Amino acid sequence: MNKKIFSKNSNLSTYTTIKVGGVAEYFAEPRNTDEFSFLIKWANLNKHKCQIIGAGSNLLINNIFIKGLVICTKKMKTLVIEPYSGIVEAEAGVMLPTLSNSLAKKRLKGGEWAVGIPGTLGGAIYMNAGTGSLSLAKNLISVKVINNKTNEQLEIEKKDIDFEYRFSSFQSNDFAIISAKLHFEPNGNLEQLIQTTKNNLKLKTETQPYHLPSFGSVFKNPENNYAAKLIDDMGLKGFKIGGAEISTMHSNFIINNSSASSKDIYELITVIQQKILQNKGIYLQPEVRMIGFDYPK
Ligand SMILES: Cc1cc2nc3c(=O)[nH]c(=O)nc-3n(C[C@H](O)[C@H](O)[C@H](O)COP(=O)(O)OP(=O)(O)OC[C@H]3O[C@@H](n4cnc5c(N)ncnc54)[C@H](O)[C@@H]3O)c2cc1C
Repeated sequence: MNKKIFSKNSNLSTYTTIKVGGVAEYFAEPRNTDEFSFLIKWANLNKHKCQIIGAGSNLLINNIFIKGLVICTKKMKTLVIEPYSGIVEAEAGVMLPTLSNSLAKKRLKGGEWAVGIPGTLGGAIYMNAGTGSLSLAKNLISVKVINNKTNEQLEIEKKDIDFEYRFSSFQSNDFAIISAKLHFEPNGNLEQLIQTTKNNLKLKTETQPYHLPSFGSVFKNPENNYAAKLIDDMGLKGFKIGGAEISTMHSNFIINNSSASSKDIYELITVIQQKILQNKGIYLQPEVRMIGFDYPK
């Protein structure tokens, strides 16, 4: 194993898609399960808090010193696809666009929707990321994890995982996702799958501010309503605090339009919540996860 497995005082802003973040006391990017497991054990032995991130595409990290170890899984990207059975084994750091495009090329059906989500497989399972009624939960067979408290590795079957709208039970337990086994429908029409995947990406880039730093939808949609519509109705489109701005393209996106600080973004989230609560009586729950804030995780 490489001796220098982590670095100290690492700037996390380049590890989030909104391009803000604090400084991690210890930071590591394991390349395989052994390194991942070793790092978690090391953090436990030394009583360091250990936080896992993927592509940082749903994360607001406060611009402070983050004590303990932050592990980014992006280098764990082994992807094995069996085209005849449709069985897929993928490590946590495999990016959804890579998964989606690879499935289409191998004529496997069912992953075309995921091409426009710039996160890792681990992050997508943790968040139950999706679009409309589609998410990876449908294709999941099992998930391999490390219990962050006991360092034990286990494989959890789908039936033992709760999935709801942008929620999985991984948000309420303390497991690090190593990899997952999935199943997709084999023998699809190659041209059709590639075309659908391309179209899905085109649709996303045409309707969301893909070209600018953001973390996707800021808030979950309340029941029978849309966060974007509520924000629009308040006339908040384009509203700014410092360098943080409510996108004029999609009101449930906050973009970092210049040099936004994490404080600007956090304040903008709070202002939106207060205005909607005051005027509509609805509490918008953030979809975005936060590190280094006193906000409930
Ligand atoms: C332009 C844009 C478009 C987006 N579109 C969509 C969309 O259509 N649908 C949608 O659902 N989301 C969307 N998102 C949000 C985001 O991409 C997803 O939530 C994604 O699944 C997050 O994955 P990640 O690897 O970036 O996770 P991160 O943001 O790095 O982490 C998110 C959470 O997952 C946890 N986590 C990550 N990896 C692991 C692991 N291996 N083990 C345990 N916990 C882990 C982290 O601790 C954190 O709490 C979009 C984001 C952007 C920037």
